[in-house]
Amino acid sequence: MIGFSNINELLIIFAVICLYVMTYAGFAEIVLALPLNKKFHYSIPQSCSHQIGVGKRVKVPFSGRIIIGYCVGLTDVSDIEKTKEIIQVIDAKPIFTPQLLAISKWMANFYFCGWGEALESFLPSAVRSRLHPKTVSVIRLSKDAAFVTDVLDTLKKRAPRQASALEVLLQEEEMTVRELSRVSECNLQSIYKLRDRGLVSLRNRPADNNPSFTSKRVKKTDHLGPTKEQQDAIQLIKKRLRGGRYRTILLRGVTGSGKTEVYLQVIAETIALGKQAIVLVPEISLTPQTIERFKSRFDKIAVLHSSLTETERSKEWWGIKNGNADIVIGARSALFAPLDNLGLIVIDEEHENSFKQDSSPRYNARDLSLVRAKYENAVVVLGSATPSLESYHNATLGRYDYLVLNSRIGDKVLPKVQLVDMRNEVQRGKKYSSISKFLELSMKRSLSQKGQIILLLNRRGFSSFISCRRCGFVLTCKKCDISLTYHKKRNAVVCHYCYHESSVPTECPECTCPKINFFGSGTERVEEEIKAKFPSYELLRMDSDTMRGHGAHETAFSAFKRGDIDILLGTQMIAKGLDFPNVTLVGVLSADTIINLPDFRASERTFQLLSQVAGRTGRGSKEGQVIIQTYNPEHYSIIFAASHDYDGFAKKELEYRKQLYYPPYGRLARIVLRGKKEEDVKKRSVELAEQLKERSIAYKKAVEILGPSPAPVTKIKDNYRWHIVVKANNIEYLQQILQSMKDEIRGSKRVQTVIDVDAYLML
Ligand code: ADP
Ligand code: ZN
Repeated sequence: MIGFSNINELLIIFAVICLYVMTYAGFAEIVLALPLNKKFHYSIPQSCSHQIGVGKRVKVPFSGRIIIGYCVGLTDVSDIEKTKEIIQVIDAKPIFTPQLLAISKWMANFYFCGWGEALESFLPSAVRSRLHPKTVSVIRLSKDAAFVTDVLDTLKKRAPRQASALEVLLQEEEMTVRELSRVSECNLQSIYKLRDRGLVSLRNRPADNNPSFTSKRVKKTDHLGPTKEQQDAIQLIKKRLRGGRYRTILLRGVTGSGKTEVYLQVIAETIALGKQAIVLVPEISLTPQTIERFKSRFDKIAVLHSSLTETERSKEWWGIKNGNADIVIGARSALFAPLDNLGLIVIDEEHENSFKQDSSPRYNARDLSLVRAKYENAVVVLGSATPSLESYHNATLGRYDYLVLNSRIGDKVLPKVQLVDMRNEVQRGKKYSSISKFLELSMKRSLSQKGQIILLLNRRGFSSFISCRRCGFVLTCKKCDISLTYHKKRNAVVCHYCYHESSVPTECPECTCPKINFFGSGTERVEEEIKAKFPSYELLRMDSDTMRGHGAHETAFSAFKRGDIDILLGTQMIAKGLDFPNVTLVGVLSADTIINLPDFRASERTFQLLSQVAGRTGRGSKEGQVIIQTYNPEHYSIIFAASHDYDGFAKKELEYRKQLYYPPYGRLARIVLRGKKEEDVKKRSVELAEQLKERSIAYKKAVEILGPSPAPVTKIKDNYRWHIVVKANNIEYLQQILQSMKDEIRGSKRVQTVIDVDAYLML
């Protein structure tokens, strides 16, 4: 018979049993990283019953393999007759917070991806694949200092290495075994002997306790005294933060108006309230310059960036997970940082396309930040000089607070913008130049006054297409239906979709006429042209061809900042967020690269790009000048950009959108079908569009099915592409019709389908 020494012990055991029975559930609901929005029931073997928990990773058998799944719930009942068993629970503590689980579920429903797929995208791949955080073995004394000192004397003669290790440990509270071995020159064998003597103790702790963000010191700065406009913005955001409830604020501030200072000061408030902040910036603006501005104010910063190595990213992630970060800065996926007391999300340049992911899960981090903030009772600040029309519309309807910074810091004025009508430049007999006379003269003047110049051309390569003068044949990629670009340095023609390179033809493949010619200019050709015109000045070309290496951007921008470079020529990677006070001239070589795209956002994107690039000048003491070359000088997006008139542009563009129920008035989703055989793709597209049209009748005119039609890029990597656009007057209708047609839309082996809700790229 078992005897209990007292009644308390009995009570404790009883309580433990009760707890066990109460928490014991028979089945775990597991989601898998597959394009299936479905929970699978697995039974919980006795051996796992203590470890299983919601938010943890597990190993489970699935169609003959063992894969990782995520536990999203526990249940006592299952209608599955024969459930399989969980093999192993991976995590000791949940890897996802309840809020992140809820967001992943929301994503799966809204964006039509797998629930497990969404969860998987929350983890950097190194975290995903390594089952446990790396650990290091650490050592400390297990006896008091007096005792150790006594032993030390005798040890010095018999085992000098062990003695020296003890001496080091007398100075340190705890250190890694490896470090101790290095410092004391005592090998591991001898260190283990110290343990066997009972003098020291060893244990494992997570290796990633000190993420890299703490390592690099940056000179600290104080908050700047805010301007009146900044002060008003800071006050309101602080008030919202103290309110402790979900709220979104749109902060429109012209370029150079000091939006970052506003972010910095409201982040300080967030931290003072004991909470944490996430700052999302477009991939392209996540430069060391940006990060330093944050590091100069705050200590516990983590950075999640795709240019980090896998190990670095995993280190940052575990650092955040272990509670060592107050602020997380990163691109899109940093929205899923595992913070457990989130107070603020800042989305800088909120209008940027790059917040939308173009592979599954096809989420928009800007839109999703509102969802996360709702689950976390956090505040969202959307910042931009040229807010997306969606955000602007929401702000004017009062759904968001709306703050405006109208003036630049230090009373600097916005630069004067002049348009050059390129139609007048194309004169007969004259050699075509991508630089107009007016731009050339302005460049000369600017350079002679020691100013620097930024030139934007949104087109890589040397020519934009290659065509035969006689028969009109245009050289296209064999795998993709897209014209090939000539790259002179590589002496090759390149496909910008699949990156396939082939040799340069010397005659037309169609009619064998030798008059095959290169048309249009890319950055590479313009580089040659400028070098010929301005031989004594330094020029740097920045595009994805020249900026391939790690840290290439950083090197280029610091050379420009130092003044080693006079002219910076580049694609849109130079248009964003840079702050170079000595830039006195910005030239846009062609404002027309986006305008003619078959995309309802083409005007908006043109306006945004022109406004952004114009904002790169006049930031210092010298006045700035902007010259825009275009074949469409009457186009409203160009005219409003030239007069820095955001409201004017928004008003006009919204009128167009309203007439056709394009966002922000309606919502749309794009269904792309692709497959190896064009016949199959076409047939399936026609069928599906028919079914959708039938279903849409119930909505009267509030749901419209556009297409099917071949996608603007009809073939990519040997896959033919068709698309259908589903347009609805509101998001509820759009979701309803897509949900009700989910099974029909699902693709087959021959024809794969993709649903892209709130699609950005329509190509
Ligand atoms: P934006 O992001 O709105 O384009 P920035 O945040 O880059 O503007 O600010 C432009 C410049 O003005 C930066 O060099 C910044 O340090 C400076 N600045 C911002 N706020 C103030 C202020 N209150 N007083 C002085 N300088 C400021
Ligand atoms: Zn191709």
